[in-house]
Amino acid sequence: METGEARHAQWCHYGTLARMQTSWTTSNPRRIFLVCPKLKSLFLVDKGSGEKGCRFFQWFDAKMCEHLKSLIPGLLWKIDRVEKENAKIRAKSKILGATMLLSWLVVFAMKMN
Ligand SMILES: [Zn+2]
Repeated sequence: METGEARHAQWCHYGTLARMQTSWTTSNPRRIFLVCPKLKSLFLVDKGSGEKGCRFFQWFDAKMCEHLKSLIPGLLWKIDRVEKENAKIRAKSKILGATMLLSWLVVFAMKMN
């Protein structure tokens, strides 16, 4: 298992991997929570089928979201830097390629004489 997955893994009371869902209520818009995967609806437990699921419910760690948010500017900066570096390398390799072609032509020309 990847470390990223392990960090988010949360098991419900029955030992099933919890399902990640997004809340669309006005009090908690777009907030992510973890719930028992067998639960059909959060507030309506299906009594008819055997697949009731437990009442496992947990808000996805808000601190983690803040932490991830704080990482974004740094990551964007890194991406920017890598892209600039790539552009430089591409420009250098073009010059290198042209230089090699030119030197090869010079050698070829000298051998012809
Ligand atoms: Zn469960």
